Amino acid sequence: MTSGIPAEDWIAHHARFAPSSEAAHDLASGRRFTYAEMDRRVSCAALWLSDAFAVQPGDRIAVLSMNDTDVFELQFACRRLGAIFLPLNWRLAVPELEFICKDATPVVLVHGDEFTDAALQVAKLASVPHTANLANGKPSAYETGLAKASGTLAPPALDLADTWTVMYTSGTTGRPKGARITYQMCVFNSVHCAMTVGLTASTRNLVFLPTFHTGGLNVYANPTFHTGGCNVVLRSFDPGRFLALMTDKELGLTDLLGVPTNFLMLAQEPGFAAADLSHIRSMGVGGAASPLSLLETFGRKGIALRQGWGMTETGPMGLFLSADKAMAKIGSSGLPPMYVRLKICDPDGDPVRQGETGELMIKGPNVTPGYWNRPEANRTSFTADGWFHTGDAARQDEDGYYYIVDRWKDMFISGGENVYPVEVENVIYQLDGVLENAVVGVPHEKWGEIGRAFVVLKPGANLDEGAVIEHCGTQLARFKVPKEVRFLDELPHNATGKVLKHQLPRT
Ligand code: ADP
Repeated sequence: MTSGIPAEDWIAHHARFAPSSEAAHDLASGRRFTYAEMDRRVSCAALWLSDAFAVQPGDRIAVLSMNDTDVFELQFACRRLGAIFLPLNWRLAVPELEFICKDATPVVLVHGDEFTDAALQVAKLASVPHTANLANGKPSAYETGLAKASGTLAPPALDLADTWTVMYTSGTTGRPKGARITYQMCVFNSVHCAMTVGLTASTRNLVFLPTFHTGGLNVYANPTFHTGGCNVVLRSFDPGRFLALMTDKELGLTDLLGVPTNFLMLAQEPGFAAADLSHIRSMGVGGAASPLSLLETFGRKGIALRQGWGMTETGPMGLFLSADKAMAKIGSSGLPPMYVRLKICDPDGDPVRQGETGELMIKGPNVTPGYWNRPEANRTSFTADGWFHTGDAARQDEDGYYYIVDRWKDMFISGGENVYPVEVENVIYQLDGVLENAVVGVPHEKWGEIGRAFVVLKPGANLDEGAVIEHCGTQLARFKVPKEVRFLDELPHNATGKVLKHQLPRT
């Protein structure tokens, strides 16, 4: 299927309109590129990929790298070749990367220097014909390739319906699935981000979520390129550095997006209370449920953490809460942006009554056309009339605002009653000494399942199991109160910073 609308080359466009505007700033190497310079490097990268590896339209280019401006260049080089960008999660083990590469069959694996061993093993196991290193601006196959690139390239005509990226998400089956991300999804997501967040050509966005994940790549980084702003790229997240960058007036950051864990850690930094963050126009939070106490902590500092909801498969932005409603509708993920359609359905697929919880369904030009090589998942993930099953439980309030209740699969049933762990976690977060917590359902002889809470305390805090259970008992119905509390030094997180609940012990 085609849209009949060409996929514009964003970097080439800005190189014509605003060649001397800054496009990207790589913090680790100190390299800064205008749109004209980035445009030239993207062209050289495309020439190099084409000359060295004979990349053809539709071929996959795998990239295994920490955050680096080179990664964005490779993404846009894929556009110039009609190739498909395949960002890989560097936290994965070799067998997991092997699975993805066997599934997506890239022609070349470009890797950061620090991942050379893993990249060579994966290339051998998955029969990837070529590998090449990049080294954050230092001598590498990538820099040599760019320096030697010559000639001109005639980019193929591409349609908005064509696939730009295949991004692997964990999904429910356990085996990762590659979501096809089209140019259309990126354009509509960029329009939605610009309209809701207020991204402009003067945006300076800090990219610290990993760029192999939709959080690092598609919110707000790609929308910032779309609008002609500048992406300031941090190699990986570190809370102390994060605060220092946010308060650096010369760097002049205006926007950033994180997951709740990033902001929980930031709030623990010694300098946080006194830090002046007033120049930052928008701080977005999404990717997982935000504890209400976190939103309140930032609210007291005069910062409206703007909630958004989305998935790799949905562009990602599917809901957004505006700053003026951040406190009035605290806990809500907001309203759908302009071109997104949503409905909440019961298990039979019928819309629930307003206020009731059901599965969130989504449709629109921001939604994936399907997964790479997964006919079965493509059949079950969509209804016959094209609605995508999000797998999230949601409800709407009387004003139409959406609340993500939890993931369906995280819900458990205790004594016949549904328990959504996020609600319990929010109550545990009310306790002063709690840094982070996660609740899961575990099997139980009498109740079927019971809640088990995993709690990480703030340094010096003194809470025991009894105190947590007692507090929950004052705020929640009996069946929701966790029967067990375990204290951990930290919770398992994925590379984005989301809590990996399936790794918490159930026995
Ligand atoms: P993964 O499943 O690997 O984390 P995604 O990043 O695509 O991949 O995750 C999307 C999921 O993240 C959503 O389906 C939802 O469960 C969760 N999520 C995203 N934003 C929010 C939010 N604001 N509140 C609660 N959950 C969220």
